Amino acid sequence: MARKLAAVSLTALLIAGAAFAWTFTAAPLPVPQEPGPVLPPAPAQRVQLAVAETGSMESNALFAYRGGNLEKRLFGMDVFVIRHPQGTILFEAGFGSHLSEHFKTVPRLMRSVSKVHPAQLLTEQLAAANIAPASLKGIFLTHSHWDHVGALPDLPGVPVYVNQAERDFIEQGGEATTLARSFGIDRFQTYAFEGPAYAGFPASHDVFGDGSVVLVPAGGHTPGAVIAFLRGADRDYALIGDLAWQKEGVDIPAEKPWMSRNMVDHDPAALRGVLVQLHQLQGANPSLLIVPSHDRRVTSQLPRLAALAPTPPATPSAP
Ligand SMILES: [Zn+2]
Ligand SMILES: [Zn+2]
Repeated sequence: MARKLAAVSLTALLIAGAAFAWTFTAAPLPVPQEPGPVLPPAPAQRVQLAVAETGSMESNALFAYRGGNLEKRLFGMDVFVIRHPQGTILFEAGFGSHLSEHFKTVPRLMRSVSKVHPAQLLTEQLAAANIAPASLKGIFLTHSHWDHVGALPDLPGVPVYVNQAERDFIEQGGEATTLARSFGIDRFQTYAFEGPAYAGFPASHDVFGDGSVVLVPAGGHTPGAVIAFLRGADRDYALIGDLAWQKEGVDIPAEKPWMSRNMVDHDPAALRGVLVQLHQLQGANPSLLIVPSHDRRVTSQLPRLAALAPTPPATPSAP
């Protein structure tokens, strides 16, 4: 009897193990035949984009997208600095000076599979580039997870912008937004998607009003996650935050495996739709560089903050 019970338990275990392993296997998302929309022409206004690396996390492709293998991947905690004649803004706030304290707010399971490495502080990198924190026009977040907000306490007084859905998530999102919430909800100001549909997304927010930095709602990873389109830099960019952790998420397209989705994605079905849309958008706009926040293979191609020209780009003269 005992032997029979052991055999049944072993079989159940093997089936559970096989089912778990299956959740990591390749499963490309189906893509409709129709091509994606072509982006509107780039605006006359020029902007500069540069990257500041605030740290990294070690992981591998297996956890990043379905079909990934054990190949090591460095997840960059990168901040995007955008210089415009109306002011300099940041996308993301990466890691900050309280990293070890902040890391303790992360759910235990995620902590157990992550190893964090800080880099030079964002505030020091801004100072080296002659950017005074008080001169920053604002910090925009692609979303409010802990690894995107770490340096906010180091930049007191700089306005932080999210949309209403993300602000609600900071207030009510439980463990997913513990760190952002700890900074006080009043730290987060809201903008609205008052602009028209853009790049196949239903609405938009034009940060400077000239088409150079356009945000669109792309909820799924978090309810108020956004994509930032940068037009008028050295090339066209789409900053996609964590919609995909590595570029294969868009290239294949493929969602995160079940274990990762469970830990971090708020609405996996909505996110699958956004990944397919991004894949189609890439097909219709081959020169658009889609930038997942954490894919160092992509962000390392971008200009460095340390090499940023000392003066902002000139305002184009009226036609
Ligand atoms: Zn995230
Ligand atoms: Zn992240």
